[in-house]
Amino acid sequence: MIRHTLALLIATTALAQQAPKPLAALRMPLTIADFKTPEVKIDIEGEATPATKAWAEEAAQHVREWWPVVVRMLSTQDFKTPDQFVLHFKPELKVPAYRTPEGLFISIAWITKRPDDFGMVIHEMTHAIQDYRRTPRDAGWLVEGIADYIRYYHYEPESPRPRFNPDKASYRDAYGTTAAFLAWAMHKYDRRLVRELDAALRRADYNDALFEKLTGKPVDALWQEFIATVKR
Ligand SMILES: [Zn+2]
Repeated sequence: MIRHTLALLIATTALAQQAPKPLAALRMPLTIADFKTPEVKIDIEGEATPATKAWAEEAAQHVREWWPVVVRMLSTQDFKTPDQFVLHFKPELKVPAYRTPEGLFISIAWITKRPDDFGMVIHEMTHAIQDYRRTPRDAGWLVEGIADYIRYYHYEPESPRPRFNPDKASYRDAYGTTAAFLAWAMHKYDRRLVRELDAALRRADYNDALFEKLTGKPVDALWQEFIATVKR
């Protein structure tokens, strides 16, 4: 009985130390406008091997499955879905993949070397849904961070995270580092964070003060708090 009371006391004290969060900050908001998914097409340059064809089909299937999910996780109320989304496969590219208004361009050399890298397709597909018209020059890190946040924390949450050096890293490093920071801040402070950042990028009026507005802390202070949780 005494032990039970003590446990209850400890639990109550721990609860009292946490500032109460409103429900809106705890739940993941979703956009529920009536979306369609674009028709996903495949275009392979040159003589396609059976392995490339099979990979392309699987990638297309991942896009059909995940497009509607990602659309709901971002501030896409006014997003205009393209009729078609084309996966172009090219023998060699300087990067694994990139996105243009014509769709995705994917390196066959890369997928031959890394046949498990469908996450890269989801990252690029997320850019197609972000579709920011006028990204402020200094917000590129956030655009990449959101795409990797979708990839690593929703599409493949069990895959190994990209590692970074906490002594040298910055939230402006983009990609996996920014994604880890966003995921932590979402969990700790406000589940609306990525959605609100995305909304600001769509309006082309993002600035760092938005972090403080949503979490109560300036982005640099948040980063210091996050980095203290990362193992060295
Ligand atoms: Zn990217």
